[in-house]
Amino acid sequence: MKKVVSTSLIAGVLLVPQLVGAAELKSGTLTKPSESAPTTIVKEYVKSKGEFKTIESKSDKVGKVVKLQQTVDGVPVFGGVVVGVVDEAGQLKTVVDDAKSVKNLHKSIKLTEKKAIASYKKLVGHKGAYELEPEAELIVYPKGDKSVYAYQVTGTILEAEEPSRWTYFIDAGTGEVLNKFDQLAHARPTNGVTGTTYTGTGIDVLGYSQTFKTTKSGSYYYLQDSTRGKGIYTYDAKNRTTLPGSLWADVDNVLNTTYDRAAVSAHVNATKTYDFYKNTYGRNSYDNAGAALNSTVHYSRSYNNAFWDGSKMVYGDGDGQTFTYLSGALDVVAHELTHAITEYTAGLIYQNESGAINEAVSDILGTVAEYSVGTNFDWLVGEDIYTPGVAGDGLRSMANPAAYGDPDHYSKRYTGTQDNGGVHINSGIVNKAAYLLGNGGSHYGVSVQGVGVMAMGDIYYRALNVYLTPTSNFSSLRQAVVQSAKDLYGATSPQAVSAAKSFDAVGIY
Ligand SMILES: [Zn+2]
Repeated sequence: MKKVVSTSLIAGVLLVPQLVGAAELKSGTLTKPSESAPTTIVKEYVKSKGEFKTIESKSDKVGKVVKLQQTVDGVPVFGGVVVGVVDEAGQLKTVVDDAKSVKNLHKSIKLTEKKAIASYKKLVGHKGAYELEPEAELIVYPKGDKSVYAYQVTGTILEAEEPSRWTYFIDAGTGEVLNKFDQLAHARPTNGVTGTTYTGTGIDVLGYSQTFKTTKSGSYYYLQDSTRGKGIYTYDAKNRTTLPGSLWADVDNVLNTTYDRAAVSAHVNATKTYDFYKNTYGRNSYDNAGAALNSTVHYSRSYNNAFWDGSKMVYGDGDGQTFTYLSGALDVVAHELTHAITEYTAGLIYQNESGAINEAVSDILGTVAEYSVGTNFDWLVGEDIYTPGVAGDGLRSMANPAAYGDPDHYSKRYTGTQDNGGVHINSGIVNKAAYLLGNGGSHYGVSVQGVGVMAMGDIYYRALNVYLTPTSNFSSLRQAVVQSAKDLYGATSPQAVSAAKSFDAVGIY
């Protein structure tokens, strides 16, 4: 959730990647029945596109889902992903082909990994320490008629005016910067305390009484819930920028001071979000393996933002005018956590249309979480913590993105370079489509029959898990969402019809 103060706005100039072609989804009975392993079936189908290695193979209600990474001599091709769904008879039913055309690969590698990292540090220009030291990976970068080897270098900076996680693509032959974007991610994991589980009570940011799990160790009750996945932990940054801060400790298990409120909300909303994903989609935390959910509150001073850095959610206190404590809103907490799920599933690149889909999916599933939990549901994002002095407004509106200056139709999309190519702006177009699918309505002369919020969420969650790829664009999203609706409800179901119409209404074909 980064709009008002945004690292991406600071980024300024963006080099638009010259990736050739977008994902194409085909469905039907694409191959004859086969006894071969699903991975073999999918690899066989795309073998004319180059070499591939398996990155995921799992079963779901439709069939076996196989994800492949395109490679050249073992080196991964940026954005080159193929997804196949194979049925019980060993027939390929659906394929998303996002293999890149690697033309005239320039084989020169002059830069070492070490030099690429040194050049990255110079370009980022950060003088202090890195939370996570930059790491470089050699990749093949498709670039129109001339593909090149490049280093994809990423480092995380947290102790700075604005935390950031820059990814740079540096030509391994010439040292030229091919592309860059900023997305916070992976930081180091944290450890809790050993003790006994208790139930604590407290008052949250919105003034509601809450109960939650704590762990007693020594003479303190810690905000550590050891009953869910590998645990839910809430930390106090004490208005500094050192992360994660210290595990929240309370003497009597009653958190009722004003300072406690941000922590109560963070802890309770992380719990609710964990339960939402577990109960609705059977997902055990963001990695689906119970990864610990860490939250830090009271980050920096009057900080008007929240972010996910790969192992934890970090919340500012807000300045009291634009924002109050950002952990106060369930949809904001679920938004941040959904970014983590996206990293572990579709891996949508955080710029241009794939970045706008990444943002929209966080708004959409954050809103579905809010609906599912059943308190304060609306189609606004962040309304509970945005401008505490003004009632009835939010950070974005899914029902009416234009009310906040965001586009609600593809013809109105932002094509500039700010905000990583408009990731928080063009998300409005997708948000509107999701709103129309869930709620129903007429837009630009197209009327869409609503399928309900939960069904809309099921469809988008499946699209995120199965069919979206790192460089999916809006057109690939339409295909992914429509196919997901067909998978879940049937090819000619009202849900599938509405899914297609919701994209007609916003001009995405
Ligand atoms: Zn976001």
